[in-house]
Amino acid sequence: MITKRLLFATFLLALLFLPNFHVQASSLIKILLVPGHDNEIWGSQYGNIKEADMNLVLATKIYNLLKSDKRFHVWITRDSMGYTKEFADYFSSNKQEIISFEQASKKKLQNKINDGSFVEKIDVQHNVATPNMAVRLYGINKWADENKIDAVIHIHFNDYPRENKWIKGIYKGFNIYMPEGQMVNSVESIKLAKKIFLQISKKYIPSTYEKEMGGLTPDQSLIALGSNGTLLESVRSVLIEYGYIYRFGNSLVRHQMYTNMANLTVAGLKNYFFGK
Ligand SMILES: [Zn+2]
Repeated sequence: MITKRLLFATFLLALLFLPNFHVQASSLIKILLVPGHDNEIWGSQYGNIKEADMNLVLATKIYNLLKSDKRFHVWITRDSMGYTKEFADYFSSNKQEIISFEQASKKKLQNKINDGSFVEKIDVQHNVATPNMAVRLYGINKWADENKIDAVIHIHFNDYPRENKWIKGIYKGFNIYMPEGQMVNSVESIKLAKKIFLQISKKYIPSTYEKEMGGLTPDQSLIALGSNGTLLESVRSVLIEYGYIYRFGNSLVRHQMYTNMANLTVAGLKNYFFGK
């Protein structure tokens, strides 16, 4: 008898809590963090500091901050061992689908350009992604669309075309790339970019590189931002260049910057999603 009652009570409790749990789980804000580049092609370098490693340290700090907040569900594409299992598996078992996705998206955009409904603009010059990296970046977009990610944050450090990479360059400051106004995910991505910009600019100056237009730069060609219409309207994306790599040669300065930038980025994200 007692057992029966207990079972019934458990059943009632389960009824009470299950729907709640379901609502909560589905209303979590889904964030994907992409520390730029990887161990094979590491982006820019200054002395023995590689950009991909810096990106990973900062992304991991952001990851830990978001993970400690129950309102977020957060993913990261890489850890200290390389691509996480989820992404490594996704890239290898969906390679053909990703290539078809890329080609179909490019064709669709070309049709829009041909009929005049999309106007191409000249962006800041970027390094062209290698074919392998392009598959990964389009793969990340495809995965983000399929998993209904709310925001993708790409984490990078910068350099600019110059002759001697072993000496410090002249530019400084951070820069946030956001989807150009014609892109389907631009409206909300731009709002998010501005919220993060407001926070970071409390402690750091925006890029002094004239092509980066004061630290908030619209862009059509970066795959990360959903070029060729590869991110859905609801998938916000920003690519943050947290600063010129040669400014962070000093280990103390670099580590203080990681902590500051992680806190400021998360503050910007929270302001955007929870309104302030
Ligand atoms: Zn980079």
